[in-house]
Amino acid sequence: MDIMSKAKRSALMASIKSSGTKPEKMLAKAFRAQGIRIKLVYGPEKIDIAIPKHKLAIFVDGCFWHQCPKHSHLPKSNRDYWLPKLEANKKRSKAKDQRLRRRGWSVVHIWEHSLASGSSAEKQALRVIVRFKLRRS
Ligand SMILES: [Zn+2]
Repeated sequence: MDIMSKAKRSALMASIKSSGTKPEKMLAKAFRAQGIRIKLVYGPEKIDIAIPKHKLAIFVDGCFWHQCPKHSHLPKSNRDYWLPKLEANKKRSKAKDQRLRRRGWSVVHIWEHSLASGSSAEKQALRVIVRFKLRRS
């Protein structure tokens, strides 16, 4: 028997979909552990991790989609398909940064590969906290 209403179920599915990937979750946890208040998938630009109090937008960039220099394995086949797709993704990300900066936000990008473990996520969170002088709220 289905004990969840349709509305509830779709709300749950939506929350699972938008709650982000694992590296983002680890980074979010690291900020929260430091007493920094964050918002996930925030605002019209869907900032991965936002710290509204400091107008700081943090994006976790996937190694494949954002073409990280270490791990961007461009597929050998279908390059004609992938190249424009990845280029478009880069452009979209840049345009997003520009829109945010114009509205007075600082933007930080963190590679997915630098969030491979809980302790590396902690390290990244601390770097951001020091760089932007974030305070507990
Ligand atoms: Zn990478």
